[in-house]
Amino acid sequence: MPAFPFTLDKPVTYPGPPPERADVVVIGGGIIGVCTALFLVRAGRSVVLLEKGRIAAEQSSRNWGWIRQQGRDPDEMPIMARANVLWQELAGQTNIDIGLVQGGITYLARTEAEIAAYENWLPHARANGVDSRILSARETAEAFPGLTGRFAGALTTPSDLRAEPWVAVPALAAIAAREGAQIVEGCAVRGLDLAAGRAAGVVTEA
Ligand SMILES: Cc1cc2nc3c(=O)[nH]c(=O)nc-3n(C[C@H](O)[C@H](O)[C@H](O)COP(=O)(O)OP(=O)(O)OC[C@H]3O[C@@H](n4cnc5c(N)ncnc54)[C@H](O)[C@@H]3O)c2cc1C
Repeated sequence: MPAFPFTLDKPVTYPGPPPERADVVVIGGGIIGVCTALFLVRAGRSVVLLEKGRIAAEQSSRNWGWIRQQGRDPDEMPIMARANVLWQELAGQTNIDIGLVQGGITYLARTEAEIAAYENWLPHARANGVDSRILSARETAEAFPGLTGRFAGALTTPSDLRAEPWVAVPALAAIAAREGAQIVEGCAVRGLDLAAGRAAGVVTEA
């Protein structure tokens, strides 16, 4: 596993000062900003991403890396089912191993009441084509032989994913840069340039 900060072979830092204009300026190079830049470039926009430090050097490299459909709010389910497909596609669009593993996620249940709550959620998974299901007490014990204590069962989603955050986000930034996004590290945005109540530009430390 590369040590953090993970440096790409081809730096994503844009050489020189930020460009004078762009259709969209994305402020912040975490997972949200990087994906916003990538998909706006794919939608035909000229995009500049300004990151005050390094790509993914804040929360987006410190999380657990789960790409989880299981247990989501019903309104999030279509988004997460789509994200599950997108992450697998993106992993194939970079020569960097982003550590993507389809290892599934399982929530253990100690009580029948917890099982009932999981069963109540299952229709949301089915409605979105997600493979969540309930494991019986015996299936749970067989799936996790090291478990101590008795569990009433579990909710499991075999298609759920995990990626290595501090490798994946710079790798996605490299895809965005390859497809035309201009990515500037070490450039904080100090404020917005407002004209007639609309954002006309951004003021950067550069
Ligand atoms: C303990 C923990 C575990 C988690 N586990 C998971 C998980 O398993 N799965 C999951 O999906 N989510 C998980 N999350 C949530 C996830 O980490 C965050 O939702 C996500 O990283 C937020 O991304 P972001 O791009 O919005 O923010 P950030 O990663 O914080 O990115 C914001 C970026 O903006 C930059 N910035 C800020 N101000 C400026 C400025 N003025 N100019 C230029 N740049 C600026 C910052 O430097 C930073 O790089 C977890 C969170 C925590 C706390």
